Amino acid sequence: MIPSVALNNGAKIPIVGLGTWRGEKEQVTEAVKVAISSGYRHIDGAFIYQNEEDVGAGICAMIDLGVVKREDLFIVSKLWNTCHLPSLVRGACEKTLSDLKVDYLDLYLMHFPMGCKPGDNLLCVNEHNQIVSDGSSFLDTWEAMEKLVDAGLVKAIGISNFNKDQIEAILNKPGLKYKPANNQIECHPFLTQEKLINYCHSKGISVTAYSPLGSPDRPWGSSDDPILLEVPEIKAIANKFNKTPAQVLIRFHIQRNVIVIAKSVTPQRIKENFQLFDFELSEDDMKTLLSLNRNWRGFSLEWASKHKDFPLNTEY
Ligand code: NDP
Repeated sequence: MIPSVALNNGAKIPIVGLGTWRGEKEQVTEAVKVAISSGYRHIDGAFIYQNEEDVGAGICAMIDLGVVKREDLFIVSKLWNTCHLPSLVRGACEKTLSDLKVDYLDLYLMHFPMGCKPGDNLLCVNEHNQIVSDGSSFLDTWEAMEKLVDAGLVKAIGISNFNKDQIEAILNKPGLKYKPANNQIECHPFLTQEKLINYCHSKGISVTAYSPLGSPDRPWGSSDDPILLEVPEIKAIANKFNKTPAQVLIRFHIQRNVIVIAKSVTPQRIKENFQLFDFELSEDDMKTLLSLNRNWRGFSLEWASKHKDFPLNTEY
């Protein structure tokens, strides 16, 4: 049994999942298959990763082989920014369901609080390299997402990359029907997010940590960026337990009751990233990891900094 976190809709989300952003088509299908055969039951995807058919192929293959049933899996996807207008939300969700070849999602997240100009150009920017707003309010988008729950397309809805004020705006929305079940945010020892995690947990909103290894393959990474997997303190903790730095970085979240979704398309690493339940970081180890915080982000979202709903211009 994989430890899980209780969501505010009564469901349980496995605390470790597989990230699926980036990777060649067949690689992603294979990664999903390897993950499920290694014990993963939680798969994190998104429309914008443009590989949901490949993820779905992996899921279907494992269901067809009888390794798992649909109800054993916890499948997450995300509504892309160009589909925030309420009239577009259901179609976007149905496209994801059909690409994944499943008839419901366990959790559907609003990928960002920022709605963008609809259309095929998913990352449409203006002459200043800034995304173009669709003028929508994420509160209206939320209301459209609530209807997906009522229609049985998704079991729970949540948010991603939302700050405290934006979460509060949803919680205070007149007529709110469903509270967000989850906020998926960047989190690792360089960005420990104590305040936002505490706030979410105090409101019954679970937190998922994305880029737990520091997202070393993000395309805009620069050679000056700090490399989480090479931090001496993290290596020392890993050596003490005969574990790898990646395992320490993933375990760090589990001990904070934070869900974690490392990505790999390398079979050996996929397995390694799940071998986390035979060791426990000490209080001192946790303190050391937390002390590495420098509020560094792999995802500083410069392309959205002028959007009215840019989430990273507040303390947390
Ligand atoms: P991660 O921090 O998970 O790092 C992934 C990278 O680390 C890949 O290059 C991978 O290589 C490498 N890696 C994986 N395991 C190991 C290991 N054991 N040892 C050494 N290197 C390893 O980055 P992501 O940014 O991909 O974040 C994880 C997931 O979070 C995403 O895939 C996505 O599902 C989600 N996400 C959500 C966002 C949001 O806005 N909500 C934003 C970003 C991510 P390789 O694959 O070659 O093995």
